[in-house]
Amino acid sequence: MKERAATFTSMASGLQALRRREPFLWLNPDYGRPPAESAAVGEADLLAAEARLARFAPLLCELFPETATAGGIIESALLELPALTEALHPGCRLLLKADHDLPVAGSVKARGGIYEVLGYAERLAFRHGLLEIGDNYRRLLAPAARRLFAGHAIVVGSTGNLGLSIGIIAAALGFRARVHMSAEAKDWKKEMLRQRGVEVVQHAGDYSAAVAQGRQEASQNPAVYFVDDENSRELFLGYAVAAFRLRAQLRERGAEPAPDEPLFVYLPCGVGGAPGGICFGLKQLFGAAVHCFFAEPVESPCMTLALLSRRHATASVYDLGLSNRTVADGLAVARPSAFVAAAVGTLVSGCYTVSDERMRQDQVLARQASGLNLEVSAVAGFSGPEMLLHTPAGHEYLRRQQLQPARIRHLLWTTGGRFLPPPSNVTDAMARTASDHDTPAPR
Ligand SMILES: *Cc1c(COP(=O)(O)O)cnc(C)c1O
Repeated sequence: MKERAATFTSMASGLQALRRREPFLWLNPDYGRPPAESAAVGEADLLAAEARLARFAPLLCELFPETATAGGIIESALLELPALTEALHPGCRLLLKADHDLPVAGSVKARGGIYEVLGYAERLAFRHGLLEIGDNYRRLLAPAARRLFAGHAIVVGSTGNLGLSIGIIAAALGFRARVHMSAEAKDWKKEMLRQRGVEVVQHAGDYSAAVAQGRQEASQNPAVYFVDDENSRELFLGYAVAAFRLRAQLRERGAEPAPDEPLFVYLPCGVGGAPGGICFGLKQLFGAAVHCFFAEPVESPCMTLALLSRRHATASVYDLGLSNRTVADGLAVARPSAFVAAAVGTLVSGCYTVSDERMRQDQVLARQASGLNLEVSAVAGFSGPEMLLHTPAGHEYLRRQQLQPARIRHLLWTTGGRFLPPPSNVTDAMARTASDHDTPAPR
């Protein structure tokens, strides 16, 4: 199942590998350098983001009873899955951050998307005198608040999951919501939104086109708030808060990373907000003890291209002759967020690409070995440890960083799947043997 991968050091050979649709690991030459520009976000912003989510927790408890046991905090488990580890990377110290199972929105977008809408609701409510400092945010369930929100619309462009997350929280608070879906968005996601009264606009074009349509619409109306996935500091911070939560979970297991016992984190990357925000948060908390790698489909390696060509704002995978067509619908993005590319340019260790076939295989493997129901996009990280441990580029990275392979913990960040319709594939069920599924996974 191993794929061919090679070392590419120069920009030209990196571009060539991208053009050839060859899965490969790109090492970021700017990793660890001082940032070129002063950071647009800092630790204080992270703390403020965490505080906002805490203020909203009592309200979320009420709106989404599935968050009640966690006190209204939307969070996922950190898992250790022996059968999956055995099937995927025998002998590795492997962990999985189960954001595929995040409550409320069923994907990593439950972090950024919900956070941004809550921020908008909070500002509106303060401005209109419906909230005061120290209030219990359940006040926002009152008719006056709902009337206020009903007079405002939230608009977003999405490949599916961001629209789902924004639509669900917007509708729950009483906002009107319109979601512009790009061509690859799955029908069940659109249906789920329509059932909640969200307006879904289907586009024949790609993700950037859907975003542009939403942006255009919002610019003409002050009562319309646009969640700009290509440029959003708020989304970024919502994702970044994951770092606090992960730190607590790692501590609980006695697995807090240290420079000589580091954590390698593999993050599926679309426009870059989710992996970028998470990477930013982790680097703030753990510094050199954590190493982040972004994973992209071979047909949609937009962040890899932007970083390696240093053309953050203009790089497009179409210019390389790539199609931006992939089974990983959540990652089908041709141009990344320039904001994120700049924010993580010195923080991300590298990027790698992965084929559709490999993602399909890993999706089935995760189900068979551990009973995980994952979207295809959610498994893009699975080939990461292999890229680091079994390719020349990976060896080069470990040598430069002076790391012992045996001391590394690898963390696969799974990003979507909770609401995925169950697979109709009987052979999967028959193939299950001695899996993590049969014994309760440690939480
Ligand atoms: C959105 C998404 C990602 C990537 O997030 P970006 O912010 O677009 O980079 C990864 N996996 C899934 C399932 C997603 O929905």
